[in-house]
Amino acid sequence: MKDVAERFLEYVKVDTQSQDDVENVPSTEKQRNLAEMLVKELKDMGAENVRLSDHCYVYATIPANTKKKLPSIGFVSHMDTSNALSGKDVKPRIIKNYDGGEIVLNEELNIRMNAEAYPVLTLSKGKDLIVTDGTTLLGADDKAGIAEIMTMAETLLAHPEIEHGTIQIGFTPDEEVGRGVDFFDVEGFGADFAYTIDGGELGEIEYENFNAAAGKVQIQGVSIHPGSAKNKMLNALLLAMEFQNMLPVNENPMYTDNYEGFYMLNALEGTVDSARAVYIIRDHDKGQFEDKKARFLKIGEYLNEKYGEGTFKVEVKDSYYNMKEKVEPHMHLIDNAKRAMEEVGVTPAVVPIRGGTDGARLSYMGLPCPNLCAGGNNFHGRYEYVPVQSLEKIVEILLKIVEIYATEDNLK
Ligand SMILES: [Zn+2]
Repeated sequence: MKDVAERFLEYVKVDTQSQDDVENVPSTEKQRNLAEMLVKELKDMGAENVRLSDHCYVYATIPANTKKKLPSIGFVSHMDTSNALSGKDVKPRIIKNYDGGEIVLNEELNIRMNAEAYPVLTLSKGKDLIVTDGTTLLGADDKAGIAEIMTMAETLLAHPEIEHGTIQIGFTPDEEVGRGVDFFDVEGFGADFAYTIDGGELGEIEYENFNAAAGKVQIQGVSIHPGSAKNKMLNALLLAMEFQNMLPVNENPMYTDNYEGFYMLNALEGTVDSARAVYIIRDHDKGQFEDKKARFLKIGEYLNEKYGEGTFKVEVKDSYYNMKEKVEPHMHLIDNAKRAMEEVGVTPAVVPIRGGTDGARLSYMGLPCPNLCAGGNNFHGRYEYVPVQSLEKIVEILLKIVEIYATEDNLK
């Protein structure tokens, strides 16, 4: 049997970077290279129903080995890596027994990482860290999750004495470009509920994320020669600034944390004649989310009264919702994950996500799906790392979850 770190090191060598603004899923053909590798590996280890969809989704089943009536649990990770930094020619290196000091990732390019800049590193003192050579990201997001699920799967298949219900496995493309579940076959997947293994530090459990909407403001000004502009010109750029200034100053990602929501001006372009502002709107609380969208629209109405109908065209479109609503009726998902962690000596930390996850969308597609830690840190950049011991511990957590769901009182 391969160990989880060995697996992880193999997966990160396959470049699976996804790409924005591409019509197709997968957005990059190279993601199929990892998908095919995983399909072969799953077949070799004896998983059943192993299949690769046209859209590059990998699915597999580990059949139940008991007559007990147990729920079918899914485990999901994504194969692609962020386009924030290259994931090609990743050269991972293991720092044994990390001493807590500065890590020289690349002597030649003088790329260093230390606990002053990344305090989370102090949690990893004494562990064996897998790091990059400073020129690429690592890909622990989310190949750590894949390696953990694969190792869990192989352990279950090699040890029929571990009693378990049906386990469904799903690996998705294009999570990083927001398309990860567009073609996820929830029905074919066949799980009663699932976990994404796509979080950070060991111990994290997440089932609350933002409600999210996109806001668009189109502004029509009146352009005229500045020499004769008095009482005639309507400068669309200034109107865009006026719109922004009517939003609550503090409800901005620069000033918010934890459960606080915000409006974020994401892009602004224009001329005197016309301008366009693009926003994102976020809030964990459904009511406050609705209020935020209503205020956004109301500002447009007010400014149209002031400057004339048609000056502002304001649109709001929902992107995704807080999965809390869909997970709360199945709180055993959270309770059992916590219990599994405690039983293997990990302190669980339930934290709200200031973003979304594929699990959030899956939850609204009928598959309740909280998110668990994959163990890495500093995702999407050259300082990304994962401790070997975290990879190993998460495999233990997944096996423990499976074991807990095989006991009689598993859904309480
Ligand atoms: Zn991820």
